[in-house]
Amino acid sequence: KMHNTILELKGNIRVFCRVRPLQMDSDDRESETTVVSFPTSMELLDRGIDLLHNGQNYSFTFDRVFSHKASQADVFVEISQLVQSALDGYKVCIFAYGQTGSGKTYTMMGKPEASEQEGLIPRSLEQIFQAGQSLSSQGWRYKIQASMLEIYNESIRDLLSVSRSNSPEASPATGKQYAIKHDQNGNTVVSDLTVVDVCSIEEVSYLLRRAAQSRSVGWTQMNEQSSRSHFVFTLRISGLNESTDQRVQGVLNLIDLAGSERLGKSGSTGERLKETQSINRSLSALSDVILSIARKEDHVPFRNSKLTYLLQPCLGGESKTLMFVNISPESSSTGESICSLRFASRVN
Ligand code: ADP
Ligand code: MG
Repeated sequence: KMHNTILELKGNIRVFCRVRPLQMDSDDRESETTVVSFPTSMELLDRGIDLLHNGQNYSFTFDRVFSHKASQADVFVEISQLVQSALDGYKVCIFAYGQTGSGKTYTMMGKPEASEQEGLIPRSLEQIFQAGQSLSSQGWRYKIQASMLEIYNESIRDLLSVSRSNSPEASPATGKQYAIKHDQNGNTVVSDLTVVDVCSIEEVSYLLRRAAQSRSVGWTQMNEQSSRSHFVFTLRISGLNESTDQRVQGVLNLIDLAGSERLGKSGSTGERLKETQSINRSLSALSDVILSIARKEDHVPFRNSKLTYLLQPCLGGESKTLMFVNISPESSSTGESICSLRFASRVN
């Protein structure tokens, strides 16, 4: 029997696990049986997850475990504090990690057509614009800037660029560099990246729709491109209090990671092999970085991937990180689920 160590509080890094419901078949029956269960003891309530695989039980613990029954609102309740801290001047990263089809995009974006199914991104935006409004009576004025990019095969792609030929391959032709630099104030600057001042949730929703079109398909659609790239949504929040002259500068990064599945190790060739290697490399670079921050090591290997270098100022130090590990409950996914849970308990 496997059992990872009971949660230790490791600074500002937390890991939440979320299991999506079983999918329904065409007759509206559950497509398969679940291999996931949740311990009900007081000690592990909402913190433990058990997986049955080849007659063996695998148990894991996290800061929080959301079962298939958890609604989008249930999940958001647990992260709204974190969103608030971005308004208070903290740098925050929220990641969704897991195999394709496990519910990463559902957790991040949700289904925008039904308000109760909206994910973290629309809910966070709502909270930020509402809080910004209500703090205005205390003299606070906020400037909010949004950018959206994709990292595919270690190349950055600007999802808000108006130029049509915006594929990584085409970027030399357009002269766009998308070089990552860190300025003296500890902020990341990506050259040539589109950054848009936003004043309302409607404006950001419009940008999100545009970004989705840039990714050439809808958010919730299972597809090659979106599952093979990391999506990074960044909000920069600059607050100035006109009566006290106090200033805050927070950042909220919401990241829908590439699918973590280890695709046909032997079978894949060419572009596919390159994609897989690049995804594996960047996901393990991310876990190395988070692990070394959690261990408070002197050297954190930020430069090993575009993603970690981009997010460097928002990882470690005074910043706050939350990783969602998304799990598919079907027996056909158990192998991948165990890999994801091991990855997440490593960073935990
Ligand atoms: P991923 O982004 O990890 O590839 P998706 O978010 O696209 O996975 O989820 C796969 C499918 O499962 C989608 O149809 C999505 O709407 C559905 N789904 C995922 N999580 C949930 C959930 N918690 N409740 C209901 N449906 C979900
Ligand atoms: Mg997705």
